[in-house]
Amino acid sequence: MKKIHVAKHSGFCFGVRMAVDKALKEAKKGKNVVMLGDIVHNEHVIRMIEEAGVRVITALDEKNPGTLLLRAHGTIPEVYEEAKKKGYTIVDATCPLVLEIHRRVRMLEEEGYTIVIIGDVGHDEVVGIAGQIKKSIVISQSGEVSKKIPRRLRKIGVVVQSTQNIENAQSIVYELAHKCQELRFFDTICKPTKLYQAEIRIMPKENDVMIIVGSFNSANTKRLTEISRSINPRTYQVESAGDVKPEWFAEAKSIGISAGSSTPDWVIQDVIQQISKIINKPVPLCGMG
Ligand code: SF4
Repeated sequence: MKKIHVAKHSGFCFGVRMAVDKALKEAKKGKNVVMLGDIVHNEHVIRMIEEAGVRVITALDEKNPGTLLLRAHGTIPEVYEEAKKKGYTIVDATCPLVLEIHRRVRMLEEEGYTIVIIGDVGHDEVVGIAGQIKKSIVISQSGEVSKKIPRRLRKIGVVVQSTQNIENAQSIVYELAHKCQELRFFDTICKPTKLYQAEIRIMPKENDVMIIVGSFNSANTKRLTEISRSINPRTYQVESAGDVKPEWFAEAKSIGISAGSSTPDWVIQDVIQQISKIINKPVPLCGMG
């Protein structure tokens, strides 16, 4: 009998849940509510919010301002200023833990540190953190340290994108310690990320196949997939039930399922249903002769 194990820590984190609740609450008011880009990185959630009446825009419109929802992983200060100037009412859905990273980089800047952000270059959250200060260096892997910091510095202050891989961040911090006289490190990887990653370091050892549910543009889902695949190559990421392939489960006795922090529960449930249907089907016998 094949078994399915679902991660205890998976799906919506509190920051995403708060952002979605704010969006739906504003949508209910029935006014001109817009979001600049995706409020969270999951197409199912965006569709649900759009269906509730919130429009996605790509630029702020002076002629038709309304209520502007700002994304869970933070926004650069210029967007706040432009929105205010153009007459928008701002509803800030930035996760409090991301706001805390903003506060810390501003503080490090005031104290004269060269600021390093450990994170993915170009990711919304990293852009939002870098936007709080005049100058920063973004490093995504330890191999980049010497290239990006060729000379030894006096003081380096470090923060981390909330959804980074803990082990990757540790190896970068280790390299940075050799690059300065004083290192100040704030471990700003959020608690939900740590819990999800701790579980995903165990589950792939205990299951024959791992399925990670979430968008390909979601940083934390990508991270879960990378960690899981490094332990168990039979790891597959799916965005929805339709992506699940029967051949993945050949001879698998147990299947582990985890999901990124922006994946809604109903999508996880659909994937579980789909996998149960596949693995409980009798395997067709091959014809002989
Ligand atoms: S992943 Fe962490 S930082 Fe991002 S929204 Fe969730 S709780 Fe907040």
